[in-house]
Parts: sequence; C-alpha cells; structure tokens
Amino acid sequence: MKLSIPLLLASLSPIDAFVEPESTFGTLLIEAANVTTKEDTSTAFYFGHEIPNESPANLFEHLDFSGATFDARSGKVANIDLSAPILPGDGNNLLWSVGFADSSAGKPEDAAEWQAVGASVLQDWINSNQKELGIDATELFASAAAFNGDDETAVRSAVHGDGDLIQFSLQRTFKGVVVRGSRASATIKSGNLVNVGFELWSDIASDFDVLPRINANEAYQILAKSTGYELKKGRSCKPELQILTQAAGEVPMFSTKGFRANSFKKTIPEVGQGYTTSLVWKGDVYPLSNDGKDENGQLQLDWPMPFAQVGSEVTDTGGNYFNGGTVSAYLYGPYANMVDVCGREILTGSNGVDWGGDKAGGNCGTPGFGGPGNTHASRSGFYELNKIMEMARSHLPSNSWLQKQLLAVMNVNNSCNAYWNGKNIYFYRSGNGCGNTGEIAAVVDHEWGHGMDAWDVARGISQPSGEGIADVYAALRLNDSCIGRGFWQKSTCSGNGNACLSCTGVRDIHYLKRQRRSPTTYTWAKKECGDSVHCWGYVYSEAIWSLYKRHLQSPPYNYDENTALEITTRLTFIGAGNVQTWFEGNGGCGASSGYRQFLLADDDNGNGWHSSYGNPNQAPIVTASPADMKATLTWKIVSGASNYEVFRTEGVNGCSKGKVKLATLSSNDSSFTDTGLQNGREYYYVVIPKGPNAACFGPASQCISVTPSGSATPSPSCRPTLNPINNPVPTTPTTPTSNPCGNDVCELAKNETPLTCPSDCTAQDLALASSANSVSKAVMFTAIPVKDVSFNSIGVVGKRSRYSLVQVYTRVGSYSGFEDSSSGWELCFNKVVLLQQGIPVSIDLACSTHTPFGSSRSFHVYAKAGMNIVAVRPTQKPIAPSGNGACGHGVCSTQQNENPGTCSVDCPVQSLQLTTSSNTDSRAAMFMVTAIESVTFTSFSVTPTRSGVSLVEVYTLIGDYTGQEKNPNAWTLCFSAEVSLLQDQANAINSLSCPTSTPAGSRRSFQVLVRDGMYFERGPSTASNSMIKVEKGIFIKKKFDKSKGDALMTGGIE
Ligand SMILES: [Zn+2]
Repeated sequence: MKLSIPLLLASLSPIDAFVEPESTFGTLLIEAANVTTKEDTSTAFYFGHEIPNESPANLFEHLDFSGATFDARSGKVANIDLSAPILPGDGNNLLWSVGFADSSAGKPEDAAEWQAVGASVLQDWINSNQKELGIDATELFASAAAFNGDDETAVRSAVHGDGDLIQFSLQRTFKGVVVRGSRASATIKSGNLVNVGFELWSDIASDFDVLPRINANEAYQILAKSTGYELKKGRSCKPELQILTQAAGEVPMFSTKGFRANSFKKTIPEVGQGYTTSLVWKGDVYPLSNDGKDENGQLQLDWPMPFAQVGSEVTDTGGNYFNGGTVSAYLYGPYANMVDVCGREILTGSNGVDWGGDKAGGNCGTPGFGGPGNTHASRSGFYELNKIMEMARSHLPSNSWLQKQLLAVMNVNNSCNAYWNGKNIYFYRSGNGCGNTGEIAAVVDHEWGHGMDAWDVARGISQPSGEGIADVYAALRLNDSCIGRGFWQKSTCSGNGNACLSCTGVRDIHYLKRQRRSPTTYTWAKKECGDSVHCWGYVYSEAIWSLYKRHLQSPPYNYDENTALEITTRLTFIGAGNVQTWFEGNGGCGASSGYRQFLLADDDNGNGWHSSYGNPNQAPIVTASPADMKATLTWKIVSGASNYEVFRTEGVNGCSKGKVKLATLSSNDSSFTDTGLQNGREYYYVVIPKGPNAACFGPASQCISVTPSGSATPSPSCRPTLNPINNPVPTTPTTPTSNPCGNDVCELAKNETPLTCPSDCTAQDLALASSANSVSKAVMFTAIPVKDVSFNSIGVVGKRSRYSLVQVYTRVGSYSGFEDSSSGWELCFNKVVLLQQGIPVSIDLACSTHTPFGSSRSFHVYAKAGMNIVAVRPTQKPIAPSGNGACGHGVCSTQQNENPGTCSVDCPVQSLQLTTSSNTDSRAAMFMVTAIESVTFTSFSVTPTRSGVSLVEVYTLIGDYTGQEKNPNAWTLCFSAEVSLLQDQANAINSLSCPTSTPAGSRRSFQVLVRDGMYFERGPSTASNSMIKVEKGIFIKKKFDKSKGDALMTGGIE
C-alpha cells in the first residue's frame, strides 16, 4: 500500500445520475510514494489463519476474536465479531447505577445522550485495544476543526430502539487531515460491543508531511484541465485537503468518481416566502408511473398534499389544516421544496386548496390554474417525496438529514435522466422515448435514496456503487422490483447486457425477471459491465430483493408478504446506514459490508447475530373503525408478544406498499388511533406482534382498510387536544398511633413516630453521594425508610455558586409513572436561594413528609441554575461490600460489614460436595451459585476421566450465566494451568486468582474446563449447604459453548 501526497480532491459535488451519463472523470493523483504492501488481487480479505507471514504479527491469536478478517491489501484488521459488555443492556449484567434503589438511574434519555455515552465507552475500548488492533487511536475522534464544514464530525452515529442498537462510523484523520474513505465502524447491541471494523486502513509514517504542495487555485486549474470545466472557488465545489491511500500500481484503495451532468450550470429559480392559510390541501398525482397502463399509471384525483406549509401551519399526513381564511400557497413544506423549471406554482383559495391536474398533461402542462409550476411532475413529486420521507423518519427518527428540507428541481429542460448532485435532486422532461422522470415515483425515490445513502451513519455515497441501495429504497417503498416503470415509453430495459423481460424502467432488481435469470455476481458484473456503477449495484440490490421476496417467505421462515417486507425494510434502513463498501471484490467479510451490517441489524440479544426463535407465532386479529380524520384499530392480545408495531400505507395497491411505522405499543395495549387522515381516502394497516427485541417479528395481522369520514370542512374545534392522563391517586399512609418517647431510639415496634417523639429522633444525615461527576437541573429519587422518619431538609450542591430558584416536590410512594405529570406531587419548597458550588445548601421542607416504615416517599428536586448529580454510567460490575467490621463471633454477616474475603475467622471453609456420581463425562460444565451468606470461593475439586496432565480452567461471572454461555467476554478467567490429575478421584484446583466475593443474596456463575475430560452427573440437580445453593448446572462440549443438557459436575466447591 502506498500513500499519495495529500492533494486537493475538490469534492466535485459527485453527481449520481439515474442512468449512466456519457463522460466521467477520475481521481487525480499528483504524487505517490512508499509502497509498503502489495495488493492481493486474488482475494479481498484473509481469515486469521490465511495471513501471510510478513503481515502484522499473529493478530488473530493475540486477540482471540473468532470472527476476525483482515484486509488483504494492508493486513490490517477488517472485521472483528465479538460480544463485549460495554454499556448496561439486555445482553449483559452491567448496571446503570450502583447503590441506588432504582438500577436504571442514570440511563440515557434521548438519542444525543446515547450517542455521547456510547462514543465515550467505545473510545475507551479502542484506546485500550489499539496495540492489538495495530492502529493509532489518536487518528480517530478528531475535533471538528479537521473537517470541511457540512456538519461533518469525526464521530457519526445512529441510535435505534431507545439505545438497544447504536451504530458508529469514525472518520480517520492524520495530523488533522482527513484520510479519504479510511474509517472505523462499530456496533453496540443490547449493551454489548458486537462488531468493530477498520476500512481502507494502512499505516501512515509518523513523518508523513501533510503540507500541501499546491494551493487551492492550482488544484482548481488541474481539475478544470482534466474535466473540461471551469471551476471557481465558492461555486460548485469547496477546496479540501485529504490524504488518499493507495494499493500498489497507483490503484487507489478508494476511488471517487463523478459524472458530468449537462444541466450543471442551469440557473435554478428561487422560491419566495410568504404564505397564507386555507383548509383542505390536495391535488392530482401519478401513484407509480405516467404510462397510463393501470391505476398505478393513471392520474389519481384529490390525493392529499402532505406536510405542506400553510401559513404558520403544516398540513398533516392527510393534507388537513385548520386555520381558515384566504390563502396563497406553494408546493413547499418542511421536508420538500418543489422548484419547477416551467415556472412558479401558486394557488389561492379560501375553502381549501385543490391543485387539480386533470386537464392537459405532460411536462409544463397545467390544469389552467395554479401557475405554470402546477405540473404533474411537481405535484406527483411532492406527494411521493413526502411519503418516502415519512416512511424513513419512522424508521430513523434521529437522523438529522431527514428533518431537513430537500430541494427538488422538476422539468429540467432535458430528457432521459435524473440525478442527485450531493445536495438537491433533479428530474428531466419527457422526450426522446423517455417519460418525464419527475412523474415516475421510483425515480423520485431513487434520487432521494442517494441522499439517504449520503447522509446516513457512514456518510457519503456507498462503494463500489450507491445505485443498488437507491434502487432498494425505491423498490421497498413501491413494492416493485422494476425501477422506474415508464422510463422507456416504448421498450424494456437493456439491463447492461442482461435485458429486462417486462420492465419498462431502467433496471429490474428481480433477477428472474431478466434474460439470464440468474443473480448478478461480482465476476459477471466486472466482466460484462465495465465501470458501470449501475451494474455493480445489482450485486447487492438483487440479494436484498431476494431476501424479501423469496428467502423470508420460504422455509424455514415462511413469513407472509407484509412481515417479510417490514423485516427487510427494517434491516435496510438500519443495516445500510453503516455500510461504506457493500462488497469488496468477492468478499462480504469487511465490517462495512452489506452482509455484515444486515446481520448486525438483525442481532436480537447482543451477540452479533439473530439467535432467538422466541418470536410470537400468532397473528393478531384486528378490527378497525373510522372517525373524522381518524382510524381506530383494536386487536386481541397475542400470547408471547412483548410489543406491537402498527404500520400504515395508502394509495392504489392496498397493503402491497412500503409502510410508515406509526407506533410501538406495549404488550398490554390492544388499540391504537391513527390521526391526521384525509376523510374519504382509504388507508391500510397491519399490526405486527414483536418478541422481546425489535429484531424479533411475529406474523403480521391481515391487512385492514379504513376510510375515515366526517364533516367536509373540519372546524378548528375538531383538532385533537392533548388531555392530561388521569393518574391514580396515591394511597395515603395510615397514621400510626404514638407512644411515649424517651429512650432516645426511634422504634416502630413501640409505636413511636418521629412526628410526636422528636427527642428520640435526632436528625440523621444521609449523604447520597459526595462525588460530583455530572450536572443537571432536576433529579428524582425514592426514599425507603428502615424506620419511621420525617424529612426536614435536603442538601443541594450547586453547579456553581449563584442564586437559583430551587423547588422540591414530594409524593407518597414511587415516582414511577408520575415523572412527567404534576398530579399528586406536593410542592414543599419554592424559593430563590444562594447555592454553593461543592457545598450542600440546606433546603428546609415546608410540607409534612412523615414516612412510616414499610412505605416509601419520592422527591423531585429542581435547581434552575443546575446542581451536581451523581450519574454512575456506565459502571462495570456491582461493587462488593467493603469489609471493615470486627470478626470473631463466628458468623459471616454483611449486616456487620464483615467481608468473607478479609474476615477468615468468621468464615471457615465450608466445602460442598456437588456429586460423587460418575455416570458420564465431558470437558466442561457451568453452574450458578446463590450465596445464602456472603462467601468467597477459593477452590474447586474435579474428578477426571483419566490420569495425566491436563489443562484445567475456571471462569466466573457475576450473576446468572444464562445468555452468556457463548460469550467469552462476559467471563473472567480465575484459573488456567496444566495440572497433574488422578483418575476417579477428587483433585483440588486451588487458589482461584480472581476476586470471587459474593455478597449474601447475590449470584455468581462458574465455568470449569478439564481438557482431557471429567465426570458429571446427568440430569437437573442442585446442591446446597447453609452458605450456598448450587443450581442450573449444565454440561457443555467445550468452553463457551451451548448447553448439551442438565448436569452437575462431579466434585466440590470449597
Ligand atoms: Zn442513481
């Protein structure tokens, strides 16, 4: 591999056209040096055992990552599959907080917090493994200064399912200069780091000079000379310094291509601002095509214009808005802005707005009103863009590009193409045998798809072709493998040497609908397609279509069409998000590949792949009832469902179309009301029951249709109002009767209460925490008294010393369920006070806070200027109690702070014989121990099947091992040695090297391996003495393996 000198690779607004344009320009290389690694053309990736000798020293063995692959060009790690607990989550035993009653305290609340916490632990992991990975971790996590604006940062991420799945793309920089295409990717699932990869990564010598040898103007000149375009600073491209890595033969590891577009210099009319209001917002639209063949190809009247700006309002999904009066409006909204080259559209109305469209058609034709821009292309494009964006937002709610407005230029004065220029999308008129591409839904979706690809987690158009994913987004939205029906008015597609059988679009991603009737392979694409990015795209777009249409609907899955579509849609929106290179040669083994990323998106428990089959297997029976702009769905609870997801679509195909995910509801919910619908229009719904993880799908309900109806001109009073939920009234604690005081001890048993017996109840301060590692404005917590108490004051530590409004609320019982409701909270303090940084200021509470033993009380403390809080995140493991109590009374007791690890007098060795049976043999066993008293484990005995020297290993983990059987990262190695063993006898395995302190009431699991075999007793069994209980014993074939059956190890525990 070698490095070219950093050169100005002006980002030439890479124009991605719908069909291949005639001329291209390639990467410019100014200078190159330092060949260090040969390019291996025979393979893209090595597995660990295939790495040639001269490559980085035996990383595979060193890392012990079973799924590692390596880039054949550089020898660097390309992909690692692992399952390392890194954040608290369903896939591990980590906790968000230690020492709080609520173990989820400190859990992130929104996508931004998840990203921040995830990036922090990922950075720690990379820092501590950088030597083994053979990278310099300082080349990741650069500050924003290294980037050329455009919201770019070193860390890009996406959060799915409330933190259950977090994807990262980390841009590499060297001395503050971006290394083009070089990045690390990572996936955290259910709290476990399940995949890490490095892409286009080669060592850069520390003395590599990043000072550019040419300036921006010179670079513009070189580029202009090569392309034949005059390029000026500040116009079509920005100057940018980047490092480009190369394999031997000056083959760039990363090649960038741009396409010349004929309309590059076309002046784009600006749309003005200024709107007024009206009531109903609709127009005539082509659903799929303008070819007139069926309903999908014919103009449909009065379809809603969704998400359109109307004065201060935006129409809803059904085109409804509510403020009356005369309005003038455009095809313009928060997400889409139609700019028609035919002219400005403008429509005024006082009783709703109907753009019409049923008269003249074609290019600049209009119904005769609404201005010269009221064309079929602008109306149809506005509808389709808003619909695919609504679908995408429902799957990727935290993607920022989807919250922005996309500019679409319609009726560009040219024919037979459309393109994305890195920022906007452009569509051509009909002519030369081609339909108007703005009137064809798949073309609109495809160009939008380039934007989605460019602005997902792995930023930029994917390699080796972004065409496949743009086609897939269109195909999943329209449920049609023919991409752009009607693009060719009189022919079918030529298919890059593999012609379409019936599709009049430009491509058909269903390979059985093309002449060769076999999948497009890397080899075929390379041989037959030359440099065509559209042909490369088939390799993976066909695979995704096959997943949906064939594999998921065949054994062993046998999903119905609607479920298969939603599974594929979910995997695509999530999986494609972090793909930078769909495949590399014949290899799908890079972390960045589509194959890997789809597998990771399908992970259901944090081990890197889909392993559970505990999905609900019953389809809900759904009924629906219409109302004014609404539809209410109800269903019977399905057994085994953890959640329900509700999906909606509309149009002329019933349910056979991409759907908007409307809601995820809990297992107790059996109804959902969808609002904002157009009265008189048919909407289609399915309800899908889900297993415990978002990746677990049960069968979809039957497709159900609803047509909402109501008053034709809804009055403002019909708008849905947000009614506060009536929360249950907390029960009042019973007032205890009081007894005389005087013994200076507050005792419930004697009916003494702190209210009436103050002399017995001296103030007992409790410091919640003295650490000040985080800052917030408000906290909640629940206090559970161990005796009757009243709370007189609360100490608040200010973020800084300053005056601040402080409020303290209280309520009886837990705050859970009342976090966002003021109902039931009593205000105990409401004043401006002088807070002190680092010092608690006493806040005296004005209300009665008597809290009898056996009840609980919650507090909500608010400090406007901010206060210090302790958010322990993420903690690694539960902390064992520290032992400082006196010993000698012969009992091990955590109540007296005695730690069995340090207090041996009280903790005599208590051996427990598990079993003496020797009815069968294996190499390894696991079991779980519950501590009745606090214990420490010091040694084991095992009974080997033969005499001789054998490797013996003992692993442990805190808690139940279930789910962690195959996860080496969950276990700590306590013993590993070659031990001389005697057959059929108990052989002691002494001095476990790791801490095994196990507080009373807690659990710990062990895994014992005897390489040459040991005995165990088959069947479910337990063993216990006064200190511990052993259960859940299983035997396994080798370490970190799945259970072969219930069994208890023959031997004992000391
Ligand atoms: Zn394209």
